[in-house]
Amino acid sequence: MFEFFHSMNLLPQRFIFRFGFASQTLTFKGKYPCSIPSHGRRKFSATTLSSATPKSGEELLLVVGGGAAGIYGAIRSKTLAPNLKVVVIEKAKPLSKVKISGGGRCNVTNGHCPDNKILAEQYPRGHREFKGSFFHTHGPMDTMSWFSDHGVVLKIEEDGRVFPASDSSSTIIDCLMSEAKRSGVLLQTGKVVTSASSTADGKFAIKLEKRSLDYVEHVEADYLLIASGSSKQGYNLATQLGHSILEPVPSLFTFKIDDLKLAELSGVTFPKVKAKLQLEGIQKKIPQLTQVAPMLVTHWGLSGPVVLRLSAWGARYLSSSDYKGTLCVDFTPDLHIEDLKSALTRHKSQFLDLTSPLSLLFSSMQRQKVLNSYPSELAVVKRFWKYILDREGICGDMLWSSISNNLLISVAALLKDCAFSVKGKGQFKDEFVTAGGVPLSEIYLDTMGSRIHPHLYFAGEVLNVDGITGGFNFQNAWTGGYIAGTSIGNLAVHERVYQ
Ligand SMILES: Cc1cc2nc3c(=O)[nH]c(=O)nc-3n(C[C@H](O)[C@H](O)[C@H](O)COP(=O)(O)OP(=O)(O)OC[C@H]3O[C@@H](n4cnc5c(N)ncnc54)[C@H](O)[C@@H]3O)c2cc1C
Repeated sequence: MFEFFHSMNLLPQRFIFRFGFASQTLTFKGKYPCSIPSHGRRKFSATTLSSATPKSGEELLLVVGGGAAGIYGAIRSKTLAPNLKVVVIEKAKPLSKVKISGGGRCNVTNGHCPDNKILAEQYPRGHREFKGSFFHTHGPMDTMSWFSDHGVVLKIEEDGRVFPASDSSSTIIDCLMSEAKRSGVLLQTGKVVTSASSTADGKFAIKLEKRSLDYVEHVEADYLLIASGSSKQGYNLATQLGHSILEPVPSLFTFKIDDLKLAELSGVTFPKVKAKLQLEGIQKKIPQLTQVAPMLVTHWGLSGPVVLRLSAWGARYLSSSDYKGTLCVDFTPDLHIEDLKSALTRHKSQFLDLTSPLSLLFSSMQRQKVLNSYPSELAVVKRFWKYILDREGICGDMLWSSISNNLLISVAALLKDCAFSVKGKGQFKDEFVTAGGVPLSEIYLDTMGSRIHPHLYFAGEVLNVDGITGGFNFQNAWTGGYIAGTSIGNLAVHERVYQ
């Protein structure tokens, strides 16, 4: 399906060897680029006159990165400005993260956030800035309409995550690639954009290299969209053009907990816990470091939505504390501690009434072991109940009738505030993003244009934006790509009309 794109790289091409970007241009014909002898410390380079070079009078948009943001933005700009030459440079395979996303199903967006303010709150980096026009311009509903209009049947799962009905990310890739092809977007793979600078006439001088060959190509572009995800090369391009980079750190990971007894519970899920992340050196109260959501025990720690959200909101603090901290979990968030104590005491009292004439009949009940029953209000599995008893040093063989009220109070306290020592970070295979990148304060969010450099745009994860799991990260890519594509497309049409 990518032949039309790849064919661009295979065409016999003319190479122009240049000294820098100026003068001394030698032209000859050849099929493959070759290395050029260097003169002193300065290096010659080869420029491929490929189809990336616009015809006279034609403007060029160069998109760095063929990910979700780059391809979506390229399609949008080309749709608005059919005369604009739009070339996407992708160093590896296009849409490779889409392919592996959502466990191969691609969680395209989230369908449970019709309110843009609530939507904005799903972004640990971006929540303040996204309260404005960003999602209003192109939100999750627009994304869903876009894919539906282009033939993709989508489904919204109970928790709001949106997937293609096929449950295959290939459906999304096929849709984007065929739309790119139909609209005339060109894609060159296997090339890395290694540097970018501005020219005297306000254009971009861009250097492309192939890793495997001693090959350098120079292109001059009128518009540049950097949609390079979390790649270091993309950050370098941004800094070369005057932008700053907030240090990239991982987001969306699980917590490593060294607790062999907990590891025995691997696979146990809790539908609703309230968890609070405490980190040394953080004095201020950060409301987002307390989350209510399901939790999962893994063989090496804790995971599930509650942990992933905390990892995202705490990404920067966790990075500076070397991923060490304390996670305090309330396993019965809907039950006040006094109600929990009462439930435990009530449960005990069933086995206590030795004065009853029937007591002899129920002697087996009086011999009920603490391990074998617990109040139904707890809604936990027996394995976990044992874990709690073990942590309190209570032998499971102890009888309910003989357990002291003080022990019951400490069990209640532990269920409400169970501390786990976080020793490091794990991986979350379904999704992984990077916090950090180009600060949002350096771009205009209504155009995605740089505040530093005209005709320079950013979209997607290259920016200091990341969302929690649930389709929010792709939504950032679609929205940013769409807005950037719209701005460039409109500008290109306008400039053509007034030329
Ligand atoms: C395993 C995994 C699963 C995920 N699942 C989901 C999910 O289900 N839902 C969700 O919302 N989010 C998910 N995400 C997050 C989501 O994939 C990213 O947020 C999203 O892909 C960002 O899009 P982007 O276009 O900004 O960057 P990317 O998708 O990373 O694309 C950037 C592209 O630019 C290329 N590139 C970089 N630098 C250069 C250069 N100098 N020259 C040429 N090419 C370059 C890269 O090769 C890459 O292809 C997942 C992430 C991972 C890792």
